[in-house]
Formats: sequence, C-alpha cells, structure tokens
Amino acid sequence: MIELEDTYKHKGLRKQLVSEIQQKGITDQAVLKAISSIPRHFFFDKIFDSHAYEDKAFPIDSGQTISQPYTVAFQSQLLNVKPGDKILEIGTGSGYQACVLVEMGAKVYTIEYQKALYQKAIRFLPKLGYQPHMYSGDGSRGMARFAPYDGIIVTAGAPTVPEELIQQLKIGGRLVIPVGNNDIQSMVLIEKTDENKIKKKQFDNFSFVPLRGAKGWTD
Ligand code: SAM
Repeated sequence: MIELEDTYKHKGLRKQLVSEIQQKGITDQAVLKAISSIPRHFFFDKIFDSHAYEDKAFPIDSGQTISQPYTVAFQSQLLNVKPGDKILEIGTGSGYQACVLVEMGAKVYTIEYQKALYQKAIRFLPKLGYQPHMYSGDGSRGMARFAPYDGIIVTAGAPTVPEELIQQLKIGGRLVIPVGNNDIQSMVLIEKTDENKIKKKQFDNFSFVPLRGAKGWTD
C-alpha cells in the first residue's frame, strides 16, 4: 500500500536529503526546490517508506528502479529547465522524475516501455496533482509527433545516442542521456547549436537500467 501522509518526520528527512545532494554539487535552486516539495515516499510501498529519503536508487515493479535522488537532480540540472519548456522524458518508471520536471514548470511528455509501470503512473500521478502527458511504448526513437522539444532526458542507459533524439530538439535544446554498456554509462549532454551542429559534453559515470527498444539493447 502507498502511504499518502507527509509527516514532520518525512519532511525532516527530505530536508536532510536536499542538503546531502546540495553537498554533492547540485546548485540549481529550482531543482532543489522541486525535490524539497515532492514527497518521494509517495512513490514507495509503505513497508519500504524508510528507504525513500536515502540517496539511493530503489527497485520498483517490472524489474526497474526509481533513480537515485542525486541522479534525478544531476540530470534535471543539466537540462537547465525553464518554466514553460517542453520536455520529453524517456523512461517514466515510477513517475518521480516527471513530477520533478512538472514542479519546475515544464510541460512534460513522458513515455514508458513497461506497460504495467505506465498503467500505474497514469492512475497515480494525477492523484498527487501532477499531470504530465503519459504514453506507453518504445521511446528510444523519441516521440516525433510532439517535437520539437526544449529538452529530452533519457532515464535508462543507452548503447549510443539515437540520432532521432537530436533531430527532435529545438535549436538551443538539450539532450541528457547516459551512454555506455549495460553496467556503467557516462552522462552525456548534447546541445543543438544549429540545425546541423551540436556541442557534446561528457560527465561522471552512473549506472542505469538498460534502454530497450529499437535504439536500445535487445530484450
Ligand atoms: N525516471 C524514472 C523514475 O523517476 O522513476 C526512472 C526509471 S528507470 C531508471 C528507467 C525506465 O526506463 C524504466 O522504467 C524502463 O522500463 C524505461 N525504459 C527502458 N527503455 C525504454 C524505452 N525504449 N522507452 C521508454 N521507456 C524505457
């Protein structure tokens, strides 16, 4: 059962978590504010409630994970979200990252490969007051029908950067994607500076569940 009560204890633990990720280098105030506002334990079964404010990834259904809070913050900071931005998230999972982006004022489109997770998120997120546009399917080639986007965030580890994702960015748009093998990926930021020009930066290593589908790893 999901616990929907946000007690003083939860709020206190959340405050500690925010200062922990701040100490790890997150400076974007909008990101920190969003993480302070969203009760992460709402995304956990009540029996695992105590793990919600540890800076760790945690298993959810369908063999997937809710990303580590620092990772959510790091990717959100790299995206440089401004209120009103149209953002595509590939890998809805628990829906927590999508809620962080909504809380930051973005118009969020999110797609999930695992049907059971999509079905859970589409029922649950509106109960929390969050209404990202949620879709079920393979997002490894993006979602061309709503392009172009100010930002695209991929929350699963990709073998390479899918060309379609760069095509679906606005000029000035940003793609944040972990790229590597099945165990470890480096965080890649791609900025589309002109129709046929990009700037690419590589950051630290992370460990995500694999991106599936046409441009991901085979099942
Ligand atoms: N953003 C999620 C959260 O806040 O809970 C993290 C989810 S988990 C680290 C990555 C998710 O990407 C998984 O739910 C997985 O099923 C999904 N995924 C993997 N390949 C995908 C694809 N091709 N299209 C859409 N979702 C995909």
